[in-house]
Formats: sequence, structure tokens, C-alpha cells
Amino acid sequence: MRLLRPFLRCLPANRLLVVACHRVTPAFDPYDPQTPDAARFARQLDALRGFEVVPLTAGLAALREGKLRRTSVAITFDDGYREQLVVAAPLLAARGYPATVFVSSGFVGGPNMWHDRLLWALREGVAGARLDAVGLPEAVPVALQARRQLAERCTAAVKSLPLLAREQAVALVEAACAAPPAPRLMLDATELRELARRPGIEIGAHTRHHPILAACALEEARAEVSGSRADLEQLLGVPVGLFAYPNGHEGRDFSERDVGLVREAGFSHAFTSDWGAVTPASDALKLPRVSLYRQSALGNALLLAREAWR
Ligand SMILES: [Zn+2]
Repeated sequence: MRLLRPFLRCLPANRLLVVACHRVTPAFDPYDPQTPDAARFARQLDALRGFEVVPLTAGLAALREGKLRRTSVAITFDDGYREQLVVAAPLLAARGYPATVFVSSGFVGGPNMWHDRLLWALREGVAGARLDAVGLPEAVPVALQARRQLAERCTAAVKSLPLLAREQAVALVEAACAAPPAPRLMLDATELRELARRPGIEIGAHTRHHPILAACALEEARAEVSGSRADLEQLLGVPVGLFAYPNGHEGRDFSERDVGLVREAGFSHAFTSDWGAVTPASDALKLPRVSLYRQSALGNALLLAREAWR
């Protein structure tokens, strides 16, 4: 990493790499091997050592004014998990790194998000439970790996359903699996306020219920976008000017109509899950992000450097 630093200092000016993170589990979970645990997240943060890590809003302002002297990085989290307070925030604080957390306001205090409910139901459910009610021919298997694969198929099958139909499908799977109650994964109001008070932490909006906006009727999408801003401003007592689109791929998950709703709701900047660096030419309501998907700090530092040059 140290050898890389002179090279990182030569990266182009006026580029902001916005890193998108989600869950950070306390320990490695074989059922959920893709989700970084605390140790892997710490390595992801170590990849940022040679970069200037800036608060997102300040970084965007500096970019607009042409004042980012070299490629900088901002850290974001989506959804509003408790782990972001309990596991991630101390690791950020130890390094003095700021971050922005995009919260789906309808999940504050519970219930868990629909895909986590499916994962839990199929992980902890009764082996042999039938899933005919959601159109899946197989029963819940015994092996953890096979349960995980079934959970992924189940997730893909219900992901793009309208909100109500998706909720019904998840409830059917939960009823069929009869798993014990799941631990609460989402921040509650007290925890969210505590997170917002941590130095360097900023809260953005991420709709109320995390729908695929492109699949929502106009008024439903409008309520999801503007409602999340109103909810969070009421909870936190500060203006919320940043937004991230659920799922976040332009064209597939949100449309120009939804960009218009984000503008109408008064957000100054909105983030997608499309890949790339933010430059002064980027559309403020369709800003790309990157993910640190490599295992090592060096691998992730090189991934960021490549993106800065692209
Ligand atoms: Zn999300």
C-alpha cells in the first residue's frame, strides 16, 4: 500500500469516487459470504489510505467549484442498518473517516427489509416446508448452502413485484417457513439520531419502503421519494438534501419520471448504483458510485485508481 502512495498522489484532479456500502456483519457469516464482516470492512477502509476521504456534501461542493486538487473518496451506506452504527461507525471513527448513510425511513424501528426477511425465513425455517404458495416447486432443504441458493431464487422472483404484492409474497414465505422471530436489523429512531450525531456522519434519504421506483405508480413513487425526506427531517430536525435510488440502476430501477420526483422533492443530489466517478460534468441527480468488491486493501485501492483514470 505504501508503495502505491506516490502513484495515488498523481491521480487526476476534480474526480470524486463515491463508495457504496450496505451491511457490515460483526463476524463472517457462511450463509451470507458476500456481505463484508468487520475485518473485511476494515480492509476496505485501509484501501482508502492513499486517498483524501471527504464528507460527501463538502466533496460535491468542492468538485463544483473545481477545488478537488486530487481524486477524492466519499463513503456512503444504504438502507439504515443497526450494523452501520454498531459495527461500521467505530471503524470509520478510528480512521477519522466521514460517511453518509441513506436511510429508508419506513424501516426505522423495524420491520426488517423484505430481502432480509426472506433470507431469515429460509435460513431458520423448518426443513421440508413447501413454497408452492409463491410459485416455487421445491421445499426448504436441510443444507445451509442449498437454503441460501433457494433464498436467492426467491429474492429474484419477488424483487420487481409492486410493493403490496411483494409484501404479500414475503409474508407467504414467512408463514410457510415458520422460522423463529428474527433479530431487528434496522436502526430505530433513537439509534438513527445517535448515528446522525456522530462526527462526520450525514443522513440522506432512500425512499420510505425501498420500492423499485420504476415499478411504482406516479403518486406512490412521489410519496416514497418526498415522504422519506419529510420523515427524516422530522426525526432528525435537520435538512436532508441527498437521496439514493433503491437498487439504483438507471432505466431498470428508476426512470426520468423518478429523477423529476427527486428534483420536485427538493433534493440537491441523488446517487445511483451505476458504476463510475463523479466529475463536474455529472448530472447532479444521477451521480454514479463504485463498490469495493475485492478482498484485499491493495486490490480495492487499485480498483479506485483505475476508476479515477477511466
Ligand atoms: Zn438500498
